[in-house]
This record gives sequence, C-alpha cells and structure tokens, in this order.
Amino acid sequence: MTQPLEILRSVFGYEQFRSPQDEVISTLMAGEDALVLMPTGGGKSLCFQIPALARTGTGIVVSPLIALMQDQVAALRQAGVNAAYLNSTLSLAEARQVEQQLLKSELDLLYVAPERLLNGRTLDLLEQANIALFAIDEAHCVSQWGHDFRPEYIQLSQLHQRFPHIPRIALTATADEPTRREIIARLGLENARVFISSFDRPNIRYHIAQGDGGARDKLLQFIREQHDGEAGIVYCLSRKKVDETATWLSSKGIPALPYHAGLPASEREHNQSRFLKEEGIVMVATIAFGMGIDKPNVRFVAHLNLPKSVEAYYQETGRAGRDGLPADAWMSYGLQDVITLRQMMAASEADETHKRVEQHKLDAMLGLCEMTTCRRQALLGYFGEPLATPCGNCDTCLEPPATWDASIHAQKALSCVHRTGQRFGVTYLVDVLLGKSDERIQRNAHDKISTFGIGGDLNATAWRGVYRQLIARGLLLVDIEGHGGLRLSEICRPVLRGEEALWLRRELRAAKSSKTERSPRTGRTLPPGADQGLWDALRAKRRELAEEQGVPPYVIFHDATLMAMMEARPQSLTAMGNLPGIGERKLEAYGADFLKVIHHA
Ligand code: ADP
Ligand code: ZN
Repeated sequence: MTQPLEILRSVFGYEQFRSPQDEVISTLMAGEDALVLMPTGGGKSLCFQIPALARTGTGIVVSPLIALMQDQVAALRQAGVNAAYLNSTLSLAEARQVEQQLLKSELDLLYVAPERLLNGRTLDLLEQANIALFAIDEAHCVSQWGHDFRPEYIQLSQLHQRFPHIPRIALTATADEPTRREIIARLGLENARVFISSFDRPNIRYHIAQGDGGARDKLLQFIREQHDGEAGIVYCLSRKKVDETATWLSSKGIPALPYHAGLPASEREHNQSRFLKEEGIVMVATIAFGMGIDKPNVRFVAHLNLPKSVEAYYQETGRAGRDGLPADAWMSYGLQDVITLRQMMAASEADETHKRVEQHKLDAMLGLCEMTTCRRQALLGYFGEPLATPCGNCDTCLEPPATWDASIHAQKALSCVHRTGQRFGVTYLVDVLLGKSDERIQRNAHDKISTFGIGGDLNATAWRGVYRQLIARGLLLVDIEGHGGLRLSEICRPVLRGEEALWLRRELRAAKSSKTERSPRTGRTLPPGADQGLWDALRAKRRELAEEQGVPPYVIFHDATLMAMMEARPQSLTAMGNLPGIGERKLEAYGADFLKVIHHA
C-alpha cells in the first residue's frame, strides 16, 4: 500500500501537505469520519483523493454539480488516476461500463450526483463493490437555510446506515456555526473529527471604492491597468445591467460575456464553457453564476453592486485566486446602492424576525464598506475569527483613508431632513443645503427654512457622501414606497442634538487615477520584470494541449506550475519533475513539450 505522502509527491507533484490535510488523511486512513471546513482554494480535494488512492477499493465522491464533477475527473485522469463519474450526461451504455469498472475494482475514484447515488440500483451496486470511503463535497447543501440547499443531500444519511463501517468525509467552504451543526446532525457525523481552518484568503486583496457615478469607467480602468488579458468575474444585480455591462466592456475591447438566468440554457452553457476553456474571458453575471466554478486562475472578482450580506460578499469574492496567486476583490458602490438595498429591505414582505436578520446582515455589509480600518480584520471578525494585526493587503491598509470630524455637517444634513418634513430624497436635500432656489423648493417654501443655504462649505458630491454614510450607518431611514425619501431614525438623535461626535471617511476626489497608478500592481499574475514572451509561449503550449483533449487549460497545468517553470527554467526532465504540480504522469505526458518551449525561449 502506497503511503499518502508518496502519493502526494508522485501523483500530484507536491512536496508537502498543507495543514490540516495530513491529519484529515490520517483520520480516514484509520477508518474514522471527518468534517472539513476549509476556505475555497484551501486544498480540500486532496483530503479525500489521497486516502481514496491509499486505501483499497474505490472512493465514492458525492458532488452536486455536473460541471464540477467533469472537471475534477478530467484533472484526475491527467494525473494518471483512474477516475470516472456517474451522472445524467452519460448514455446508458456508458453508465453500465462505469458500473462494471466499479465492480471490477478498476476505479480509484467515482464521482456521483446525489440523486443518482440514492437510487436503489446504485445503492445495490455499492453493496457489491469494494469501497474505500465516501466523500460528501459541498456538504453545506444539506442545510435548509443556506442558499444552495439540495433536498437529496438530506437522504445522504442513508450512507451511514447502510455502510456503517466505511469512513465518511464531509467538506465545505461554508464556515458558520449553524450550518456546521446542521451538517453534523443531518449526515450523522456526531463522531467525526472536525477540522476547521482559518478562513482567511491572504492572496485576495480587498478593495471597496466609493463610486458615485463613473463606476463602469473605474471598472474598465481597473481591468486595463491591473488585469489586462486575465480572467475575471463582474457581478451585477440585474439581468439588464449584466447585458449592458457585457456589451459595453466588449465595445471597449475587453472579451466579456454575459451570464444570467434569463439567457437560453445553450447560451449560458456556451459562455460558461468559453470562460473555463479560454484564457482572459471576463464573465459579467448575476449571482446565478459561480457556484461550482472551480477555475483556479480567476484573477479578479468585481462587484458593480453591493452584495446583500457579508456572507455573500465573502463567498462571491472567494471565487478569485483559488490557485493561491495574487488576486483582487474589487467593488464599487455609491449612494444609490445604499438607497436601493435599504428600500428593498424596508419593502420586504418577510416576517419581522426574518427582516431583522436581513437588516442586521445588510448593516454589517455597509459597515464593511464604510470602515476606515483593515477590511480583512473586519471580514474575519464577522465570522468569529480574530486577526491580530492589520493585513497590509486591503485598500484601507494600503492607502489609509483620512477621516474628518463631520459632526456639524451631519447635524446640518439631519436637520435639513427634519425641517423639510422627512419625505425628500438626497438630491432635493442637497439643493436646499446649497441654497439652490428652484420652483419646487419655492413652492414648498423650503427657501424660507433655517437650513436653506447653510451648506455652502461643501460641494454637492461631498454632501451626497455625507448622506450616504448617514444612511449606511442607519442614522437615516429610507421610505418604503421607493421614492428615496429619507426620515430620521431613533439612533440619530444624539448626533442631531450635537451630543455625539461623528467621524466620517474623507472621500477621495480628483486624485483618484494617480492614486491607482501608485498603488502596487501585485494583482497581476506575473511579477514585474518577468519574461512575458516565455509566459505567453508556455500558455500557448498549454492551450494547444488542452484543445487537443477538449479540457480546460488549468487541467493540464496550473498557472503556478507555469510560473515555477519560468523561474526555474528546468533543462532536464528530472529538474522539471521537481516543480510543484508535476507528478509522474504529467511529466511523462508533457515534460518534453514544455522543455522544448523553455529551450527555445
Ligand atoms: P478547494 O477544493 O479547497 O477549493 P482545491 O482542492 O481545489 O481547493 O485546491 C486548491 C489549490 O491548491 C489547487 O491548485 C491544488 O492543486 C493546490 N494544493 C492543494 N494541496 C496542496 C499541497 N499540499 N501543496 C501544494 N498545492 C496544493
Ligand atoms: Zn487590511
């Protein structure tokens, strides 16, 4: 029997286990159950793939998404592993063949869709087969409260009853305590060893820009300056905005494709497959896109709208940089986002308890946007994980925002809401503060009130910023009718009466573009001074091989492996075989091809 570490090296081409992979693997090797909570990109797959190879029999992997399954199987076959899947894309004859392979113990790993696994025929088949372990991937799908709920997952408790002696491992990147408890209870994992990793994604740089107007232009500038030719995802709230943004980016020379539930299935599939198989595609999408996308080299995730919660933000941004190389989570948000979300919340039909939870979640998200200290500390803190020192890899760490004592201005802004009768929107209020006397203001006699024209020391943009932050902090409430009218909240009283100071972040104004220029461009995969020609040649070879076999390029080699080639410039197969991500099978299949590319560079 081959030892796990030997398998890690010879099959996957990696030197060392990452913590806690080795402990998880030992647990399964000892025949015990495990629950693994690890962030995206943490290295969950090896936790079950290696013990499946090291133990006798086949590892059965339950996976909810067909595309993901196919990708993983393709990647395993590249590494020389006997892997197969059973799902609805197979013809009857193909499925029968896979079943035969299982019975003859010819498979190391078999991926199965949950509904397939649970039908009587498959369960009977499994009774006759030699099984190494059960792995339940994306185990949070068992949670009825989560957004990925799969009813079939609940039935997976049967596995424990029918196969009590076979070790099981459940894995998820969803961290919160209630979900964890639900997984344990529903899958009967009370005796499992639980492994909880840090949920920090140190390679992701968080950046949240104040974007009142011009968000799209800022996005374009961001892509051009930091991610030219690289793959990314741009999230928008509505289908219409997805379509518009994709068309607009394309017109600016960025290869962008739309993805949302309103497109015909064939177009969605086509766009998704291009995103996976080509390099440098930008997917503009609603949140319908993302789950099960395990493309490792998504270099940025951009939000043109505010996510509804910190959980959603963490999950969506987490799709960047699975390969551990530098990646960006970029967001632009402004006054209108805050108003829209506050309105949606106010108008929600949910019961009071639900509303309070949603409200609390949105507050936390807005707090993250407006904060002036390290975003990563706040993000991890939200999930109950303390980070001792500021991260140095988020916008507030890299360019600490200035704050200013806005107490007097907040008083003026709040007082203006009060004097005008708590029913007008920001544009009107700002006009009153600036003393702009138009017909509507005169008709309402608001040119006669005490707050008329008292705001001349700030311009309209700055006042909008003040209002945005007041709304974000819950000092002002948005009307339910959807006209954007503002009213005072209870918590604004001390500020309004001048009893409590209010410090706000200073908005960056015209200096913006020079600022972005100066900030280090480590979002890019290639370090400065790297040989771009060799990089392109290596990627071209990888693409050629991938196309020949109809698999995504990263299934051949990850970017990190190509980068290691650039750095080491191996001259022999032995030297090539020492690079991370090159196991025996891949060395044999592709080593010589890539040596040639390096040799000619
Ligand atoms: P997850 O499923 O947790 O999102 P993956 O299993 O896809 O993560 O692994 C993420 C990346 O880390 C992959 O590129 C994988 O090859 C790499 N990786 C995993 N374990 C190791 C290791 N021990 N050494 C080096 N790279 C690893
Ligand atoms: Zn930070």
